[in-house]
Amino acid sequence: MKTLLVIGAGPKALAVAAKAHVLRELGLPAPRVVVVEAHAVGGNWLPSGGWTDGRHRLGTSPEKDVGFPYHSTMARGRNREINEGMQAFSWTSFLVDQGGYSEWIDRGRPSPQHHVWAKYLQWVGHRIDLELIQGRVSSISPAADGWLVSVTDADGAVTQLDTDELMITGPGRSTRALADHPKVLSISAFWELAGRRELPVSSRVAVIGGGETAGSALDELVRHEMLTVSVISPMATLYTRGESFFENSLYSDPVKWAGLSVEQRRDVIRRTDRGVFSVRVQESLLGDDRVHHLQGRVTRVADEGSGVALTLRNSPRPDQVHTFDLVVDATGGHPLWFLEMFDADAADLLELAVGGPLTMARIEATIGYDLAVTGLESKLFLPNMAALTQGPGFPNLSCLGELSDRVLRAAGDAGESARREAAAGAERVRVR
Ligand SMILES: Cc1cc2nc3c(=O)[nH]c(=O)nc-3n(C[C@H](O)[C@H](O)[C@H](O)COP(=O)(O)OP(=O)(O)OC[C@H]3O[C@@H](n4cnc5c(N)ncnc54)[C@H](O)[C@@H]3O)c2cc1C
Repeated sequence: MKTLLVIGAGPKALAVAAKAHVLRELGLPAPRVVVVEAHAVGGNWLPSGGWTDGRHRLGTSPEKDVGFPYHSTMARGRNREINEGMQAFSWTSFLVDQGGYSEWIDRGRPSPQHHVWAKYLQWVGHRIDLELIQGRVSSISPAADGWLVSVTDADGAVTQLDTDELMITGPGRSTRALADHPKVLSISAFWELAGRRELPVSSRVAVIGGGETAGSALDELVRHEMLTVSVISPMATLYTRGESFFENSLYSDPVKWAGLSVEQRRDVIRRTDRGVFSVRVQESLLGDDRVHHLQGRVTRVADEGSGVALTLRNSPRPDQVHTFDLVVDATGGHPLWFLEMFDADAADLLELAVGGPLTMARIEATIGYDLAVTGLESKLFLPNMAALTQGPGFPNLSCLGELSDRVLRAAGDAGESARREAAAGAERVRVR
């Protein structure tokens, strides 16, 4: 049996592990799925993950759960059974199991708080007996027929895992801030202070960023005593995410995606994903006259009396300087964060596959139908990089059922290495 190692026990890992569980239950082939997690299952939806305080609400519907859209096409003649099997791990099955289903319906199906979403993911993990390794992946190297992954546990002990295939999830760390300055908070420092009710009293606050991370931070800030809250983004205005049937359907079912030109795809992503607030967040901000938008890219951070001065660039206009008491860097994760785990050999291999130095554009362009980098002998699944080539829903929660179909179909293929392993009777994920 092949082994698929997943870095991060978030929704993507749970979606893939749950479907592999269902396939096995039905007697269909599936790889062994092992998940390495630095915090806890659903860690990035909990305060300890550094992306939220856990009390803010999911932007999308929770019915876009680990099985959505329940339209498997993996195994001809058995897809109905797969869909039915996955329904045992749906959001509504979770509510039925926990006794909250009718209340949720009667309250108008509200989006759950992030910590409840984490609880749902943990429930799925528990029900499928998720194979979980606790620790932080610190390095990735190529092996003869797979990947060698080093995991550091809480005591600093390092274990090497040897796997056939690898999937990387999540946005990386949230501890990065634009500048090392006491008045400039990373998103992780922001949530830590907010959680302890210790956000400094400030009259002029700036939030840098116009996406989901900034939206949650703003949702929190407007509950505090502030004179003004400026949202800084390079866009001409703060856009609301398009959330009509037409936009949503491209997320749920990416079948039409391949028929669009690259320019049309970039346009959809700009309009619906990058640097946009959900309608709910936008509505709560609209009614608050303390919230303003400042257009520009921050190019300089400097001390200014007891505050901090930000230089905003809007070429060809001259730079502008604005002073704040507090700045929150909510620009979100770095898309290529995972490369910091790659050793020189792994980076070389990836460079060969993508045809040059590792840039976001090159990696994005090589993501195939299976959500893996094309041209690598051992699968490296990067669903977070799959929006442009495969569909805008793959990096987020929009089509986790389709994601697991594609990954497992590829991971289940009997490759050369798997045949060799089977012949040798060896088991992968050896602890060396
Ligand atoms: C505040 C906020 C709200 C959001 N709301 C929505 C929403 O409503 N709808 C939506 O579709 N999308 C939303 N998103 C986008 C969201 O990031 C993705 O949809 C979704 O979480 C991605 O799932 P995932 O499985 O890739 O990763 P995550 O849920 O981010 O899980 C990644 C996991 O990896 C672990 N990890 C990280 N590094 C390592 C390492 N080196 N070793 C081991 N483990 C590691 C983390 O602890 C974490 O548990 C939101 C994002 C943010 C920041």
